[in-house]
Amino acid sequence: MAIPVPSRLLFIDGQWREPVKKNRIPIINPSTEAIIGDIPAATAEDIDIAVEAARRALIRNGGKDWAAASGAHRAKFLRAIAAKITERKSELAKLEALDCGKPLEEAAWDIDDVAGCFEYHADLAEALDSRQKAPISLPVETFKGYLLMDPIGVVGLITPWNYPLLMATWKVAPALAAGCAAILKPSELASVSCLELADICIEVGLPPGILNIVTGLGPEAGAPLASHPHVDKIAFTGSSATGSKIMSAAAQLVKPVSLELGGKSPIVVFEDVDLDKAAEWTLFGCFWTNGQICSATSRLIIHENIAREFLDKLVAWCRNIKISDPLEDGCRLGPVVSSGQYEKVMSFISTAKSEGATILCGGKRPENLEKGFFVKPTIITDVKTSMQIWREEVFGPVLCVKTFATEEEAIELANDTHYGLAAAVLSEDLERCERLTKAFQCGIVWVNCSQPCFCQAPWGGKKRSGFGRELGERGLDNYLNVKQVTQYVSSDPW
Ligand code: NAD
Repeated sequence: MAIPVPSRLLFIDGQWREPVKKNRIPIINPSTEAIIGDIPAATAEDIDIAVEAARRALIRNGGKDWAAASGAHRAKFLRAIAAKITERKSELAKLEALDCGKPLEEAAWDIDDVAGCFEYHADLAEALDSRQKAPISLPVETFKGYLLMDPIGVVGLITPWNYPLLMATWKVAPALAAGCAAILKPSELASVSCLELADICIEVGLPPGILNIVTGLGPEAGAPLASHPHVDKIAFTGSSATGSKIMSAAAQLVKPVSLELGGKSPIVVFEDVDLDKAAEWTLFGCFWTNGQICSATSRLIIHENIAREFLDKLVAWCRNIKISDPLEDGCRLGPVVSSGQYEKVMSFISTAKSEGATILCGGKRPENLEKGFFVKPTIITDVKTSMQIWREEVFGPVLCVKTFATEEEAIELANDTHYGLAAAVLSEDLERCERLTKAFQCGIVWVNCSQPCFCQAPWGGKKRSGFGRELGERGLDNYLNVKQVTQYVSSDPW
């Protein structure tokens, strides 16, 4: 059952605070197009207040409350947040399903991942204590060297709407584990669960100003955060177009950025696969979360000898799944997130048609649903590599297909993109899989699967999919300043 969406303010310095300009943004349920609440709309004035609160939080009590406290101390808060997330799982999952349209079951898995991610970073925070003062081996005995890992400072975290709380957690958890103070600016299209995280921070007694959650529009709230002179680092997940703007703003102040951007990832299917299993991974890889996944394997590159039979299986699945309100039992595909996203997906499909591609299935809204931003799962064939549908990220339930005859041809097609986030290969021949793994130009490779993601494994891309890695120990290092210390230790006079 749907639950009411709590009405919240901005979360700054440990307190709820009305935006200076008192503006709010409506929340639209993508299944019904009804307004179901609103969120505060921050502007540059609120960002200034939040950044100031974060700076104060880092130096309060000589830093001993947070930045200079042990990792073990911070880990206690991360574990407490994880426990509260688990306690409120069902409510948070329903709010996410309502807010961004993902099937309730998928939303519930995401919330489990959120709790797991806070737990994992609690472990990393504890382990950070033993990484301090790691010796550096120097070639002379008169000096000794060691490393300190300092928090980088105040960090701005800007996140998208497809996994609202999980994408925020991928940044908040390592930032807090490292000892930073953060300002989170979630997407205006899905901020509800992030505001509930604020409520959880109050419940667990997180020191004021360590995490500030400031909702609002990109140009009004995100841009002033990205260009703020007192923010030491920006971590961004979103589109390549916005990532480029953030990088330009950060460049003015030589501010470090990490960018997790879009993708157009391939899945290469060889003729030796079990067709049913391969079809399941292909469907999962493209239509999970309605295709609104940065790493969606949305370009199917299939061996020509099995293409017809394989596509028949995919089409049968697409025609038979339940497309409905995400809160309904058995829903497999909900709406896309917004009317803007719906128009964008539809425009990709009509351009594909006008460029000569064939819409094998889908390509329109389901006949039985009059309201909501629903798009049937769509498979497109007769695709040329010059077409928009092959080259650009749709971020919706659309799979485009090309066939290949040789391994070399498959590799060439897979790498024929200016993105470089992920790639998948399905084949019984593991040596062949290894050859493709090495040849793929990307940051994440799936062998005989697509999309599984673990917070222990570093996540990120190359080319226009961005740079830097989230998750794993490398992800924590995004939020640390490595300080080398060289000490003169000889008894000789100076
Ligand atoms: P988006 O770029 O439109 O927005 C992302 C965030 O940036 C939002 O919070 C938005 O308000 C903010 N923003 C917008 N304009 C801004 C500006 N000028 N300055 C500062 N902030 C600004 O992206 P989206 O539509 O929310 O998300 C979809 C995109 O995210 C897709 O391209 C997808 O591939 C990508 N994504 C990437 C990953 C990854 O791990 N690589 C994960 C999830 C999503």
